[in-house]
Amino acid sequence: QLPVNVTNRRPRIGVMGGTFDPIHHGHLVAASEVQHLFHLDEVIFVPTGISSFKQDRDVTLPEHRYLMAVIATASNTRFSVSRVDIDRPGVTYTVDTLKDLSRMHPEAELFFITGADVLPQILSWKDSGDLWELATFIGVTRPGHAIDVSSLPKGTTKIVEVPAMAISSTDIRERVLRGAPIWYLVPDDVVQHIRKYGLYDVSGKIGKLEK
Ligand code: ATP
Ligand code: MG
Repeated sequence: QLPVNVTNRRPRIGVMGGTFDPIHHGHLVAASEVQHLFHLDEVIFVPTGISSFKQDRDVTLPEHRYLMAVIATASNTRFSVSRVDIDRPGVTYTVDTLKDLSRMHPEAELFFITGADVLPQILSWKDSGDLWELATFIGVTRPGHAIDVSSLPKGTTKIVEVPAMAISSTDIRERVLRGAPIWYLVPDDVVQHIRKYGLYDVSGKIGKLEK
C-alpha cells in the first residue's frame, strides 16, 4: 500500500497570463489564493509577447517584463515564469500559450487564471471555442470590476474571491512618471529593477531602447 501522500493524480498547473508591465501584488495575491484553493502544484506566470490588445501603447521590452516576473516570484517554490509567449514570434494568443504549455506538461491539468476585467473579453479571443478544452478558467475578483460571465459558455469558468488589491500596472506606470511612490504596490526588488533601468520614467527610454 502506498503512503497516503503519494497519489496518482494529474499535476495541477495554474497559468497566469499577463502583460506584467510591471508585475504587482494584485497578480501575486490572486495567483497565491488560487494556488491554495485549487490545490495547484504550481502556478506559471506567462508574460505576453506582443499583446493584441495593447498595441496602441509602448509596452516595455519583454525581457524586462520577464525579469521582473522572475524577481517577484523567486522566493515562492510554487511559482515559476515561462518564456513561451515572449519567445514565440508575433502576437500572443492565449490559445497558443495553453497549447504550448500542455505540450510541455502532457500529464497536467491546466487552470487559466484571469481577472474580472478580462472575463468579458475571452469570447473575442482567437479560437475561443478551443480554450475550454485546454484549461479550466478561473476568474478572480478585482476591485472596480464586476464579475460578468454572462457571455461565457455555462460551466466553463469558476469564480474565486481573492483579497481585494486595488492595484494596476497602469497606475504604477503613472506613479513612476509623476514621482509618486510605488513601494508596497510591487515587491521591493521590482521597485529596484524599475529604478535601475529607469523604466516608466522620462529616462525610461533607456529601458525601452536597449536590446
Ligand atoms: P494594465 O493596467 O497594464 O492592464 P494590469 O494591472 O491589468 O495592467 P495585466 O498584466 O493586464 O495587469 O493583468 C494580468 C492578469 O492579472 C489579468 O487577468 C488581470 O485581470 C489580472 N489582475 C491584474 N491586477 C489584478 C488585481 N489587482 N486583482 C486581481 N486580478 C488582477
Ligand atoms: Mg490589464
